[in-house]
Formats: sequence, structure tokens, C-alpha cells
Amino acid sequence: MALTDQAFMQYSRQILLPEVGEHGQSRLSQSHVLIVGVGGLGNLAAQYLAAAGVGRISLIDGDRIERSNLPRQLLFTSDDLGGNKADVAAQKLMRAYRDCHIHCYQHYLTADSAATVFNNRYHAIDLVLDCSDNFAARQLVNQLAIEHKVTLVSASAAHFQGQLLSVNQQISPDTGCYHCLYPSDMSVSQTCQTVGVLGPMVGSLASMQALMSLNLLLTHDATAELPPIAVQSRCMDSRQLLGQLYRFDGAKFTWRQATLARDPDCTVCRVHER
Ligand SMILES: [Zn+2]
Repeated sequence: MALTDQAFMQYSRQILLPEVGEHGQSRLSQSHVLIVGVGGLGNLAAQYLAAAGVGRISLIDGDRIERSNLPRQLLFTSDDLGGNKADVAAQKLMRAYRDCHIHCYQHYLTADSAATVFNNRYHAIDLVLDCSDNFAARQLVNQLAIEHKVTLVSASAAHFQGQLLSVNQQISPDTGCYHCLYPSDMSVSQTCQTVGVLGPMVGSLASMQALMSLNLLLTHDATAELPPIAVQSRCMDSRQLLGQLYRFDGAKFTWRQATLARDPDCTVCRVHER
């Protein structure tokens, strides 16, 4: 699909990248990203993706905006207190990025509501971002992404620790999922609501999550009718990102990377194995 003159100007700095070009920008405009959780991570990741020209974003969150959210959730102001996070973020993003179709679900993602969210027959989901703030939600998002064979980009930030992980076992079958890393019987008592965190710590992870998402959208052949552009690029290869676990220490300013091994006994990805 050819870009309009306005789109060509707006995204010119991205199009200048040989890894993007007009073809990649067109691909972004045809992509659909689901963002689960519109807190600190979801606010900024959604804004970066909408600003980059991703054509369709679905936001889902049942939570309401509280004053203690404002240092991290930069789309919101004190005028928005009490509003639904997905609804308020969608309204603001729609005003700022008119090329992006934004849909919001004003409820939490649950096993019951998942079918409606994931089975969009008109606009298949290319990528799901886990921006949730608790262990149970992360497990559910991982399970749904595996079940629906959608690439997952999961991020989290608490205290001075951040984590980033992407999963697609169709492309990278030997690498693990979130449940391989944290089995659901594991005791994880902390949620992001009970741990202190600085805004830029969350922002750093949200930026990395958005950057990884753009990399995957540009290189992952999710839209089969488009020829892969990864062949043009020597520095972008989705297989090098998928199944990798990145950990950022915001106090020491160090990144660590490790390949996430697949657990052959994982009760999530073993069940949905092809
Ligand atoms: Zn697994």
C-alpha cells in the first residue's frame, strides 16, 4: 500500500532507515497491536507505537486513574482522575495520532473476555504487549498469546529492576515462554502496586518494549501477503530477539541478556505445541 505524501513527510526519519523504508512504514500502518494494561508501560508503549505509524492499536484495562499513577502514566493528568485508563488513553492518542485506529476495552482481560479480544476477524492481532502489573495477569496474557499464536512482548519494571522478553514459538520453537520462566505454582507475592519505582525506570522499559515491538513488526512476516523485508536488513532479525530475556538494573545501569530455554514440562506451551 503506497504511503500518502503526508505520511511520507511525517515518517521521513524512520523511512530513511534502510531497515524501515517505505515498505516497512506501510507494513507498520497495516499492523494491529494489542496492549494489555494501560499503566506506566502501556501509556508510553502505546504512544510510541501510535507515533511511529502503527495503524491499529487495541487497549484493554479495567483500572481507573489514581493520583499516585501520575508520575509514571504520562498521558494522564489530574483532570483525568477516576477515568478508565484505556478510555482516557484512547481519547488522547486519537487526538494526537489521527492515522491510528484506536479501540479500547474498558475491562480487564480475563479468560472469559479473551475470545472477544483475540478473535477479531476483521483485524487479526499481529503482536500483543503485556503491560500488566501483576503475576496472574502476566500468566494469562502469556497463555492467550501462545494459544492464539500471537507474538508476545512482555515487559515489567519494579524497584530498580526491569525485564523484557519476547515469545513466538512458531518462529523460535526451542525458546521458552513466560510460564517456562515463572511456573504458575511459583510464589510471586509482589505486584507493581506494592513496590516503589521511579517514572523513568518504567519509561526505559516501555521504550525498549516499543522498540522491540517495532523490530518484530518490521521483520516478522505476520502479514503473509507482504514480502519479508528482513532479507534487506543485516541488523534486524526477529529470531535474534525472540526467546531472549533481557534484564535491566536501573541502579547499576547494566543490561543482562540470556536465551530463555523452553521447559519441556511447561503446562502452557507444551499443551499448545503444534
Ligand atoms: Zn512454556
